[in-house]
Amino acid sequence: MQIDSKNLKNKVRDEFKRRFKKEPMMVHAPGRINLIGDHTDYNLGFVLPAAIDRGITLALANNGSDCCSLVSLDMGEEISVNLNEELRPINTGWANYILGVMQGLRSRGLELIGFDAVFGGDIPIGSGLSSSAALECAAVLGISRLMGNEISNRDMIHIAQKAEHDFAGVKCGIMDQFASVMGKSNQAIRLDCKSLQYEYLPIELEDCSFVLLDTKVSHSLGDSEYNKRRAECMEGIAIINRKYPQAESLREVSMEMLDNSKSEMSDKIFQRCLFVLEENSRVIRAGNYLKSGLSKEFGQLMFSSHEGLSRLYDVSCQELDLLVEEAKKLDPIYGARMMGGGFGGCTLNLIARRGKEDSISQLRSSFIKAFCREPGIYEINIEDGARLI
Ligand code: ADP
Ligand code: MG
Repeated sequence: MQIDSKNLKNKVRDEFKRRFKKEPMMVHAPGRINLIGDHTDYNLGFVLPAAIDRGITLALANNGSDCCSLVSLDMGEEISVNLNEELRPINTGWANYILGVMQGLRSRGLELIGFDAVFGGDIPIGSGLSSSAALECAAVLGISRLMGNEISNRDMIHIAQKAEHDFAGVKCGIMDQFASVMGKSNQAIRLDCKSLQYEYLPIELEDCSFVLLDTKVSHSLGDSEYNKRRAECMEGIAIINRKYPQAESLREVSMEMLDNSKSEMSDKIFQRCLFVLEENSRVIRAGNYLKSGLSKEFGQLMFSSHEGLSRLYDVSCQELDLLVEEAKKLDPIYGARMMGGGFGGCTLNLIARRGKEDSISQLRSSFIKAFCREPGIYEINIEDGARLI
């Protein structure tokens, strides 16, 4: 069971003090939304995420031993780690994100000494809001600071990403960890995933807001499909690269290059590549629209993004598709799309404030009518990235 967001810090700190009888250091790392640009990060393209006001809060303190106690409040579990032994993935899922981070810090020459940690969160788990990156980023910030080491933001992001690759087995791109570390209040981040150059773009939410509709379909089965999509893109680029050796990732591929390679690839591989090229172009256009405020044009790109994710990239599901189709019928909704890896989780809806309540209630009724159960509904604000609190 997850805990209420307002009380998150107090609950985590109180539980730490109750168990370990001392005052802990406190850190918080947020989850994220992605306004547009999914499955483009690992193809070294563009994304437009923003950190949100839900995240993971971690309390930790040194214990003077060579063991660590790690406690998950939400899972009601505790594990013990002996620092004299090699760190490797274990059967306790949540612990792997922290163990992966510890291993990442160690392999960069940081000597780990014993500490205790308690954490909890208010991000719906497995809903595409990147609770996993929030956990990794809270761990990397907290543990490195506790060990007296101020590592750079870039190192934190890479250690967090590698923890997910090596200890959770998800070959994710860089977006989630980047957003969780670098997020800024009321700003989206337009990130070039090849150069890691980025630009903050203000999000003015005066006359509209972002609302998430959660299908509560767990995307956990999607992890293997996610890795499969990544492999399919690699297959595509390998074919294109035979004709165009300068193209090392889909980022460097133009529509013309893809068309000229079409006859050498299966329809499926062509569609995957086509989606990535189109999605990159949408992110660029969406960023330009965003500079003059959130608009219907921006929303239209969200709808097209969903269409591509569903039809070409095949990472949607019937619950997500229904929510987006219903959103299209409602005038106050500028745009809606599935978000994150896919196969479940949330749709992100950009809704004009006038008529917002009615629109949400209509989406909810349509969802209940189709699937006989309640969707989750979360309003979110754009917040700062990982920080000491
Ligand atoms: P998401 O889209 O939320 O990132 P993932 O499947 O990538 O979904 O990551 C979810 C996993 O992260 C959980 O199964 C769990 O292991 C870990 N996790 C996330 N939030 C928490 C939490 N509050 N407490 C314990 N573990 C968590
Ligand atoms: Mg995740």
